[in-house]
Amino acid sequence: MLMSTQHRPYWDEALETQPREDWAALKLQLLQKHLHHAYNNSPYYRASFDAAGVHPESVRSLDDIRRFPFINKQTLRERQLAVPPFGDLVAVPERDIVYISASSGSTGVPTASPFTAQDFDEWIDYEARQFWSSGLRPEDRYAHSLNFSLFVGGPCVLGAQKLGALSIHAGTVPSERLLAIAKQFQVTAIWTTPSYAWYLGETAVKEGIDLKKDLAIRRIFVAGEPGGSIPETRQRIEALWGASVYDYYGLSDIFGSCAGMCEEKDGLHWAEDHILVEVLHPDTNEPVEEGARGEMVLTTLKKSARPMVRFRTGDIVSFTSEPCGCGRTSIRLQGVHGRLDDMLIIKGANLFPSDVEAIARRDHDLTGEYRLIVERQNHLDVLTVEVERSATFSGRDEDLAHHFGRQLKSITGVSAVVKILPADTLPRATHKARRVEDRRSGVWG
Ligand SMILES: [Zn+2]
Repeated sequence: MLMSTQHRPYWDEALETQPREDWAALKLQLLQKHLHHAYNNSPYYRASFDAAGVHPESVRSLDDIRRFPFINKQTLRERQLAVPPFGDLVAVPERDIVYISASSGSTGVPTASPFTAQDFDEWIDYEARQFWSSGLRPEDRYAHSLNFSLFVGGPCVLGAQKLGALSIHAGTVPSERLLAIAKQFQVTAIWTTPSYAWYLGETAVKEGIDLKKDLAIRRIFVAGEPGGSIPETRQRIEALWGASVYDYYGLSDIFGSCAGMCEEKDGLHWAEDHILVEVLHPDTNEPVEEGARGEMVLTTLKKSARPMVRFRTGDIVSFTSEPCGCGRTSIRLQGVHGRLDDMLIIKGANLFPSDVEAIARRDHDLTGEYRLIVERQNHLDVLTVEVERSATFSGRDEDLAHHFGRQLKSITGVSAVVKILPADTLPRATHKARRVEDRRSGVWG
């Protein structure tokens, strides 16, 4: 057994526990400097700020960011094509760039996210701070099982290494191999997606591995899907593994993780000294009330290789600045409720797959797997939800379906045809789960 050692509770106590006013002052100072850097060194930002009639000099408060123009994924793609290879949002000479990650997104054209040496070091220090807040310590043996190939999540392992944990750069190996590594080295922490954590646990159990006795995994970091912030999903993974699950949020165009859960697991502490957050109503672009859902728009505060000013993420989120039990004072992401692209509008009501997932995972007569099918019949939207009864369920399917449909209606306002399937019928997702078939356009696939 590993010895437990007394450690300080924070990675950077002065920063992490400073009063909210100090956060605001720090962010304003960083924002002013960063906007000047963008304006002075990136041809794109100089032209776009000039065209919008805004200048970094006029920024006196954090709200002044709202006068600056938006960018989005398409901006990155277009500017990269116009000025290859990295686009003219870049604000440093290429010789200063030491690392790029790339993400392809739905259109298949990869966009690159460049880092200077200082950007990279600051990022890794942030990752270490975030891991520390989730309880990872130098005594841990950490297996990083995310993709390393161009993926911004790969280098996050260096944050665990910087913190002093023994770090195993496992990557996306087959599940038997990952389980073998976990067993051989008695790994205490891993990072994967929520659906893969579930799949891996189920696979291990099927292979006769006792997750709590044969393995030493006590912490599972998850990211990439909403599941980690859905308490029902997290608790099911925790019960399966006998481990603690921490949700993380990353963005391919900024950092591998930009937020993560502390031991309180009451939202994800945000990298507030690196990234300024706005939460805007997607139609009006006005800020929503604290705690309300809106589109997350981000502005980097330090990343000098390619500043991101008002980047529309398409992620629907909510935030809180209420005090956290851990003593950290940064704002907390209360979860990514879905992507604007994933939001289904069914007979005028908004539905996110994550809402359905929460209900499916809560009912222990169900396996927790689900699929949504949306069709148009006689000009009306019809939602079918397929769920699986658990192998031990001995009641009537009609009762299960009725119960599920009633909960869905009361939580989301959406009515659905609920189909109960036998256990292990729906396809098991390994990495990013695809659980929605919108057949209304007739081109799904
Ligand atoms: Zn906390």
